[in-house]
Amino acid sequence: MHANNNELDETTMNRRFSLRNSCRIADRLEKSPNITERYSISTHLDIHYAPQDATILPLIQESLLDAYGIVKTWFNYSNDLAISLWMAPEVKDLQYMVCIPCADSYFFAPGARDGINIIVFVSPLTCRLNHNEIRMTALLAHEITHHIIRAIAQASTDATIRKQNLDMPMWLEEGLCQLMECEVHPSIEDKFIKSINEISQWYDLEDLWNDLSSCSDTNSAYLQAYFATQRLVNKIGQAEVLTLLSLNRDHKTDWRELTKSNALTALKTDEGR
Ligand SMILES: [Zn+2]
Repeated sequence: MHANNNELDETTMNRRFSLRNSCRIADRLEKSPNITERYSISTHLDIHYAPQDATILPLIQESLLDAYGIVKTWFNYSNDLAISLWMAPEVKDLQYMVCIPCADSYFFAPGARDGINIIVFVSPLTCRLNHNEIRMTALLAHEITHHIIRAIAQASTDATIRKQNLDMPMWLEEGLCQLMECEVHPSIEDKFIKSINEISQWYDLEDLWNDLSSCSDTNSAYLQAYFATQRLVNKIGQAEVLTLLSLNRDHKTDWRELTKSNALTALKTDEGR
């Protein structure tokens, strides 16, 4: 098989992009035909890749194992979580897989296939930004966190209906994902803190219940999600946060009360920074 980017012609890409209107990301997810190889790290972790990316596998493996360990430890998750990385050789392959015309630096945890949790991103051999071990490990930790939260809280993968269903809020999910990024390296937390101090307009947590990418200022929304989550963890402790996540399965967590809580974001203004 000599699959290459020629297969992803304009017609194919437009067909894929048009699925965004009718199909959720978890349902339209499809591996790029250019990803033909598979490297197995263990019974539950593997990397699917294109032949030209074989030389980068050691770096990806190291990052994945580090990220997986960090997240599993924090969430006190004793089971194995099956994860497949689908590493796109080019940005076009990434766009094909998620049906989104995104930048090459994007990472996604779009859903699962046959019970295996999928993470997609572009090979560091093509995307120079991804050729940084701290960044790679941090972003893998971020995406693994999405999957582990789905396993623990069983929240809907459709982030547009979380609020109406009183399902786990995205501010907390994305906040925990970013908290795990910070566990990878202190420089990441420093960067977040610096950026938080530059936020001029704060959202109500209520407005961050659903998909944060629908906010007009996505950067601020994510930083605020991180800030509120860090506050929550400091206030009630990590174990209690994990309990809230587990209770979400039976819709027994009072997210409404928590999301109203002034202690999490309104304080930022009170402090006078
Ligand atoms: Zn995320």
